[in-house]
Amino acid sequence: MKTLSFLGNDSDSAWNIFVTQVERVRPHLGELEAWIETLMRPKRALIVDIPLEMEDGTVRHFEGYRVQHNLSRGPGKGGVRYHADVTLDEVMALSAWMTIKCAVLNLPFGGAKGGIRVDPATLSQKELERLTRRYTSEIGLIIGPQQDIPAPDVGTNAQVMAWMMDTWSMNVGATTTGVVTGKPVHLGGSLGRVKATGRGVFVTGRQAASHLGLPLTDARIGIQGFGNVGSVSAQLFAEAGANIIAIQDHSATLYSAAGIDIEALSAWQQKEGKIAGFPGVDTVEPGTFWELEYDIVIPAALEGQITPERARNLNCRLVLEGANGPTLPQADDILRERGILVLPDVICNAGGVTVSYFEWVQDFSSFYWSEEEIYQKLDQIILNAFEEVWKNAQSKGISLRTAAYATACERILTARKERGIYP
Ligand code: NAD
Repeated sequence: MKTLSFLGNDSDSAWNIFVTQVERVRPHLGELEAWIETLMRPKRALIVDIPLEMEDGTVRHFEGYRVQHNLSRGPGKGGVRYHADVTLDEVMALSAWMTIKCAVLNLPFGGAKGGIRVDPATLSQKELERLTRRYTSEIGLIIGPQQDIPAPDVGTNAQVMAWMMDTWSMNVGATTTGVVTGKPVHLGGSLGRVKATGRGVFVTGRQAASHLGLPLTDARIGIQGFGNVGSVSAQLFAEAGANIIAIQDHSATLYSAAGIDIEALSAWQQKEGKIAGFPGVDTVEPGTFWELEYDIVIPAALEGQITPERARNLNCRLVLEGANGPTLPQADDILRERGILVLPDVICNAGGVTVSYFEWVQDFSSFYWSEEEIYQKLDQIILNAFEEVWKNAQSKGISLRTAAYATACERILTARKERGIYP
């Protein structure tokens, strides 16, 4: 499948996964199908060169991207990823998933995403700051509180957002907190943002489990990724009485039939930067993670992790997509045939962008809400979206992903149609 001239032919590439997912909603769009091509290419993609002076005086060059997939419903919204494997194809797919996610949640945003192909762990703090500032200046042409609002993703955090906000503000000559979200709270960040994605995974996952008649008490859960999304999800499910029996990150796969002590593991991870070496549990081969007996599996690391082969062997009732794009389309079909419910990323991990939306609104009004208000509004928005998609899926006999895409595409393509084509 080659959808765009500058991309390769890999049908499992992130962008092609997105295209396949959109193709599946074609039959559900009625006359709006005429506009579907809009989603098959990004509106705008910027590739930037980032020269960086290293601590030893040498200069290295890094490749960065900012892609705005669709802006029909509002400014672009989406994170910035720092990872050694980032590619334009991946950033395009991530930006497209943001378009769908914002539309399913009915947030007034389009979809965007950015990234730099770099392993941030290999840079000093000063190098990371210089890299971030130069990247922000380069993409400064197309971002802004009314144009496109970045946020953290894999490998970036509140400190990176503070540098981005400061750089953009310096360039325009006015402090503009609303240019990014996920900032530190004292710089216009929102209470609850750090835990928002994990909370969304938990709240929507609990609802899906309840629809399946699956009690959370003593439920056996496996989580891939113990970063922002994975660790908060783990904590909330453990508090609800579930047993987190396996956790995998880039460094190790931990297993304990009795359940892993999440609080102790979080403390370990904070000190060590990884889960490897955590005492009192077994360390198993990475492949074993996908073969254990679970009730719920939560991929919360990278895309493309649930392959057809893993889908055939996966032993659980419910998959909660904390990560973006963790399930390949063919694997999706296999899971459906096997009666394993997949709660798609565009709802399951939408807690982060929902609280980012709250942060953006608070920055505009310079009036800030309590954590309680944030969580109450978050739960309401995300559960409403979940129930709407659940009902559509049930009534049409389609998967939750196709139902979510149908709702989202209808909103995006209606906006596209009503706005018309310029000139
Ligand atoms: P993070 O950088 O905080 O954590 C990533 C985790 O993945 C780490 O534990 C890392 O060790 C692990 N990991 C990396 N490579 C791995 C591999 N090959 N095998 C196993 N584990 C590996 O990132 P995050 O913010 O938690 O994001 C995780 C996923 O959730 C990504 O897909 C991201 O796009 C998605 N997401 C994040 C947010 C957010 O608010 N942070 C919102 C929506 C979606």
